[in-house]
Amino acid sequence: MKSSKESPLAVSYFLPEIPFLKREAKIYADESGYLFVQYSGEAQIQERFNPEAVSELLKLIPVVEYIYDEKGKKKHGIYNISEIDPHKVISYLNRFGVVGISDLDFRNEVIKQRDPVSITRLTGITFKNAEKLYKGKSLDPKFLDRLNAIRNGDEVPYRLIEKILKDLARSARLYINLLEDPSFAEREALSLTDKNRKRIVSAWHGYGGAFKDSEDPASPRFNLNEEWTYTYSGKRKIPALDFAEGALSAFSQVMNKHLSLITKSVVTTQAVRRFNLENSGLETAFSAYLLNAFKDKKVKRVCVECGSVFLPQRIKEENKYCGESCSKKVRNRKQRAKKKVSASKAGSKATPKARKEKK
Ligand SMILES: [Zn+2]
Repeated sequence: MKSSKESPLAVSYFLPEIPFLKREAKIYADESGYLFVQYSGEAQIQERFNPEAVSELLKLIPVVEYIYDEKGKKKHGIYNISEIDPHKVISYLNRFGVVGISDLDFRNEVIKQRDPVSITRLTGITFKNAEKLYKGKSLDPKFLDRLNAIRNGDEVPYRLIEKILKDLARSARLYINLLEDPSFAEREALSLTDKNRKRIVSAWHGYGGAFKDSEDPASPRFNLNEEWTYTYSGKRKIPALDFAEGALSAFSQVMNKHLSLITKSVVTTQAVRRFNLENSGLETAFSAYLLNAFKDKKVKRVCVECGSVFLPQRIKEENKYCGESCSKKVRNRKQRAKKKVSASKAGSKATPKARKEKK
């Protein structure tokens, strides 16, 4: 073994492209203050994962704001991360696919655990409002319909969707930063050099949030001189390498959780297989994409137009832009420039400046 410490991250096989669903998503709040996403319309099976979902997700998560003390010194390991704009979340889901239905454990738990404490924990309703849902010992039938809709995969508490998107964003950030490790590209145990360790730890502990400039571990301008997660547990300082190991093992747990629907049954039937495929959301396809990127040795790139980091769809292709919106912007700009030139060629409306450009 080349590396000094073995990483808990080991991928032994590759997953096929996993089909997932796209359905119309809308957001609602009921009278108890419960916020949920409703999926309706015909389910369309998506055969292929759109890699733009990675870069668009990273843009969706708000920038991390660091907290400073009275002397203007940055506090270690403490920051604010603002909530994601729910309307942006909905347009994301409508563009890339459903999120939240592949968590079958969650769907079952909602039905089984209906006391106010569990309802608060699972749906995000305040405890006070959860108590109001009860008449004596029985739950308001209208709310019971809500819970049944969750079990059927037609509704998902917004709180769960937000959590999954944040988990996926931090996984994508961590993955992009793994690409900085030379052993990772060779598919050997990670070397976890100081540099990589700092990138990996920062990516994970940013909760998927974007960082500003030099604070973004995925940015080439990332400032390696700073220790981001220097933290004490009680009086004992946590060894820096343990942070990286912890981040990697949490990353693999998230990936495995989302893939479990597809991978956990060793022995399966046609019916189970079909059920699983019909219940796999974007997070399953997203995780399979990240794992498959190991095989393809995908390299991260920086968008020429907006500077965001992305994983190109195909390696050999000269992908300069993070997605359709950026390449469109550049195309439109070129077209406008062309029009200007042809207008000046026509002569009639040519300004002195346009004439100058022609030379
Ligand atoms: Zn871009």
